[in-house]
Amino acid sequence: MAKTKVPSATVSRLVTYLRVLEDLERRGVLKTSSEQLAEEAQVTAFQVRKDLAYFGSYGTRGVGYSVPLLKRELRRLLGLSRKWRLAIVGMGRLGQALADYPGLDENFEPVGFFDVDPGKIGQPLTKGTIEPFAKMPQVVRERGIEIGMITVPAQAAQEVADRLVQAGVKGILNFAPVVLEAPKDIPVENVDFLAGLSRLSFFVSRHMNERWTE
Ligand code: NAD
Repeated sequence: MAKTKVPSATVSRLVTYLRVLEDLERRGVLKTSSEQLAEEAQVTAFQVRKDLAYFGSYGTRGVGYSVPLLKRELRRLLGLSRKWRLAIVGMGRLGQALADYPGLDENFEPVGFFDVDPGKIGQPLTKGTIEPFAKMPQVVRERGIEIGMITVPAQAAQEVADRLVQAGVKGILNFAPVVLEAPKDIPVENVDFLAGLSRLSFFVSRHMNERWTE
């Protein structure tokens, strides 16, 4: 059966709904509605129903959704009912901060840390040791790594992405400020806090201008 194409914005909202459901569960709430999910996720109830409709029908008209069931279903849809093994390439400031970050979800386990700098290779980390980038393909195979995180300077990022793909990773989380080329079947997600700051700068300046012109 052909898979329906799910818009990227829908996937982002599913992650938000999951966070909302986890929070409701922590508060002991067992039933919810598209209106409540919408309010907490700051979207419309229509949007919630439309997003969930991509994956079949959840909830019962007039009764709403069971929080634990919808949570389990969303985790399954998001591929979070299993563990993903990660490689981090580029063990500078950002790579090391991510490698040692204690709050990584139980679903994501960094098991390979790579760099080209001989001064960094062999350096111990909380969850491993920095290894030479040349060893990356072998380690990816041996440790069953499926996701590569790129934290190298922009000019090295494409080459690193190509090598990760050749080594067999299934997806890439890219922190370098470049648009990467990858085969169609290898999803690339970009993380860019500077882009976030620029968007924030737009909204903050707009609000300030409105205040000044009131
Ligand atoms: P850094 O200079 O501290 O670290 C980069 C590391 O990559 C170094 O250890 C270097 O030896 C290694 N490296 C270089 N070429 C390599 C290669 N071919 N293979 C393996 N390792 C290689 O840099 P940083 O401050 O940690 O930033 C890393 C990247 O992340 C940059 O591209 C930066 O622009 C980006 N960044 C993104 C965000 C974000 O929000 N997305 C935030 C901060 C930094």
